[in-house]
Amino acid sequence: MLDLRSYLAGRWRAGDGPEQTAVDPVTGEVAARFRAGGHDLGAAVAWGRERGGPALRKRTFRERGLLLSRLAASLRAHREEFRALARTYGATDADARHDVDGGISTLAYYGRLGASYPDRDFLFDGPEEPLSRQGGFAGRHLLTPRPGLAAQINAYNFPVWGPLEKLGPALLAGVPTLIKPATRTALLTFRIVERMLESGELPEGSLQLLVGPPGDLLDHLGGQDTVLFTGSAETGNRIRSHPRIVSRSVRVNLEADSLNAAVLGPDGVPGASVRRALLREVRREMTVKAGQKCTAIRRVLVPEAEAASFAEELGAEIRGIRVGDPRAPETEMGPLVDAEAAAAAREGVRLLREEAEVFAEGALPAGSANGPGGAFFPPLGLRLRPGCRPRAVHRVEVFGPVVTLLSHDSADEAVAGVRAGGGSLVTSVFSEDPDFLRRFTLAAAPWNGRVMTMSGRALEQTTGHGIAVPQLVHGGPGRAGGGEELGGRRALAPFLARTAVQGDPALLRTLFATEDPPK
Ligand code: NAP
Repeated sequence: MLDLRSYLAGRWRAGDGPEQTAVDPVTGEVAARFRAGGHDLGAAVAWGRERGGPALRKRTFRERGLLLSRLAASLRAHREEFRALARTYGATDADARHDVDGGISTLAYYGRLGASYPDRDFLFDGPEEPLSRQGGFAGRHLLTPRPGLAAQINAYNFPVWGPLEKLGPALLAGVPTLIKPATRTALLTFRIVERMLESGELPEGSLQLLVGPPGDLLDHLGGQDTVLFTGSAETGNRIRSHPRIVSRSVRVNLEADSLNAAVLGPDGVPGASVRRALLREVRREMTVKAGQKCTAIRRVLVPEAEAASFAEELGAEIRGIRVGDPRAPETEMGPLVDAEAAAAAREGVRLLREEAEVFAEGALPAGSANGPGGAFFPPLGLRLRPGCRPRAVHRVEVFGPVVTLLSHDSADEAVAGVRAGGGSLVTSVFSEDPDFLRRFTLAAAPWNGRVMTMSGRALEQTTGHGIAVPQLVHGGPGRAGGGEELGGRRALAPFLARTAVQGDPALLRTLFATEDPPK
């Protein structure tokens, strides 16, 4: 069992609230205990800004990149320990790899990116812009590290990847970070932070951890700080409208929930490779992390004429999912994180069932294998009832292994279905029909952070619908929060000041003599 503490202002500290525990949803054993609250978060914010910031900014971009590479290597040495801890909140081996290995690889990616940067403490953004006819006055945008703190507030489903994909760009930019993990799975974030601090790579003040609720953290932030939030749209909106965030113009990046879709094109007839790939992908998206993934497929849109036969095939996939103890090698899908999550998923399904019916239900583990906590949830396929207008289907995110099958009769109608979700992180489209793919992709693009076209070699070589890769943007408009993370160098944007510097171009070239590497 782990005793969790926060690491604030240079010390490990227990809170002063009542003892709380994190319980394994399968065995019922206590996996971690902690006390939350009572921390001086004003002092922690100041510590980050005043100790961590200057220490990081003493190094160049390239040096910080090399630091990240060493940090990622030191975490990699503890992968087995992290994966074993993930079992205690229901993650299978595949789920744990997804989070742990994915998180460390993302950190390593920012290490490699930074190592290719120059040995200086600013970057250019764009070319020099001439501003006088005679050539004696010009301007250029410089990017410099903001002298603030990055405050992360994370969701429970990615306790490793979530913090690391934000930490990499912040540290590379030269900005210290305070991580507040979701309380339910804080034990794994606690352990990775402990391991990172032990590595000795990080300058004092550059990394802090807050276990438990956010307290008055937001009340201490100012105009040079950044809030990086991942979680539900409801909490995100509360943060975005917090009086201090509004009055100090604190930068906020929101990654919220979303009703992602997968679409089958008109050529997706029985036996077509795109159709088989879609069935595989839906099964994978339902089972990885038991559907507790912001990018998971929630809605599947297939051509009207294919809906009945597709439901049969998908039903067979859903009923074939092996649900059980995440420690058992044959298990494909574990439980939800806890009974509360299962209750929330049940409530979501109740709302969906007002307009949709269950056409396939997977089996739960029998008897005591179901665990003491009631956290297991069956994989479910729902289909819109004939004559019902889809409302909840486009609004209610069931954070579990649940998909709803819908139909379309054209690329335009498929786009309308996707749009009805109000903005998504990702939509996949499965077709070999170039006209359908082009029409759909262009019209669906403004409603998605990512559109994955699935045809040809991509069917075999895809990284997967649900995988956010560090090279490409992760985020989405509207309902999905309107934020952007990752996306290569662009991930540094929230942590860098973009300032137009004007003057005699000859002087500017002397002052800022070097060029950036190619993007
Ligand atoms: P959540 O309940 O919104 O909580 C997210 C985080 O916000 C937690 O750390 C939580 O702390 C904290 N929090 C709660 N109330 C707060 C407040 N008033 N002020 C500041 N922070 C507050 O979400 P969750 O249940 O952990 O995660 C599931 C949701 O996250 C799903 O809807 C999923 O779609 C979304 N998600 C989105 C992405 C993405 O990249 N777009 C990725 C993963 C998950 P406590 O845990 O201490 O309550």
